[in-house]
Amino acid sequence: MNTTSHTLPSAAGPVVPHVERATSMVTGQPILIRCECPLGRDHTYAEWRERFGDSAPAE
Ligand SMILES: [Zn+2]
Repeated sequence: MNTTSHTLPSAAGPVVPHVERATSMVTGQPILIRCECPLGRDHTYAEWRERFGDSAPAE
């Protein structure tokens, strides 16, 4: 198990571990993903896309 109880602060500021809510493409059931993005709060994948997705470079 990953039991990291402390994370190194990033240059962008403290990162607060939280939960991202997504929906399984396979079962359609909601799934929770541990997230440490700069939002710093529970959010949905759609919220993450609105905040970061559109500005992310396409690969
Ligand atoms: Zn997040």
